[in-house]
Amino acid sequence: MAPKLQLAIYWAAACGGCDVAILDTDEKILDIAEAADIVLWPIAMDFKYEDIYKMEPGSIDVCLFNGAIRTSEQEEIAKALRARSKFMIAFGACAAWGGIPGLANLTNREEIFNTVYQETATTINEEDIRPDTNYPGPEGELHLPRIYDRVWSLDQVVNVDYYVPGCPPTPETIWTAILAIVTGNLPPKGTTIAGIKSLCDTCEREKTEKKITQFKRPFEIIADPKKCLLEQGLICCGPVTRDGCGHRCTNNNMPCRGCYGPSEKVSDQGAKLLNAIASIMDVKDEKSAQELAATWEDPAGTVYRFSLAKSLIYDYKKGGE
Ligand code: SF4
Repeated sequence: MAPKLQLAIYWAAACGGCDVAILDTDEKILDIAEAADIVLWPIAMDFKYEDIYKMEPGSIDVCLFNGAIRTSEQEEIAKALRARSKFMIAFGACAAWGGIPGLANLTNREEIFNTVYQETATTINEEDIRPDTNYPGPEGELHLPRIYDRVWSLDQVVNVDYYVPGCPPTPETIWTAILAIVTGNLPPKGTTIAGIKSLCDTCEREKTEKKITQFKRPFEIIADPKKCLLEQGLICCGPVTRDGCGHRCTNNNMPCRGCYGPSEKVSDQGAKLLNAIASIMDVKDEKSAQELAATWEDPAGTVYRFSLAKSLIYDYKKGGE
């Protein structure tokens, strides 16, 4: 019998949805258990960090790492797992491009701390106490991880072999990735294990090249289930997003939010989407363009919902930890 894969699963700055998605493979989880020994999965089993440090380099076959890098602890564990893993997989949108946590890069650590520890209506903090990395407690010195000024994607911190996209990845995407690993039928290094085309390329909704006269949010209208959502004024990220999710959102009459990341030929998902949307806005001059743009709530958070940490536009702020 072939030796079982040694599989590690870890989460960093994430919501836990990627871990739950592994359980969503339903009965296939038994096939995963058949093919792999789970040597680390802190959300499900009682592992300690010292268990990682005891492992030899290369002793983990595959590490499914979900979540972005926000703290010194997450960076340290990412590096420790990378050193011990034959294949490091950025699992889910946060690990791949920073995901929703990456939207924190629109601001910085100081502004976030000001909001959380001072400005919210429910906060009383007269001594202005902020998180510290060292605390001299009665039990001895306590150490907390450093919170970085920005969020990083996993591949901005360690070398990544493959990407499994999604927020979270669908069970089908997870199973495709697991099968590729188990059978050794792996695509070239750096591949995103999902579709190649954009979501629009495989979307069956009717497209008429109708221009947008007003941006709308999903709760404001009941969209026509047969027509392109973008042409109905809903910001759908389909033109620039990788196919492979099974059209989970558009099949339920909701616009694509972009969680499968940029499609094959797109390097900056948000910039490309802005470009696509601008080209279908029904405007005659700058004034009408500004009036129409004003009906769009949160453009940056919409077009870069999952990819701000990896965007070209963010590079101008590079620096800091
Ligand atoms: Fe389908 Fe959205 Fe593309 Fe329209 S923009 S064709 S709804 S994926």
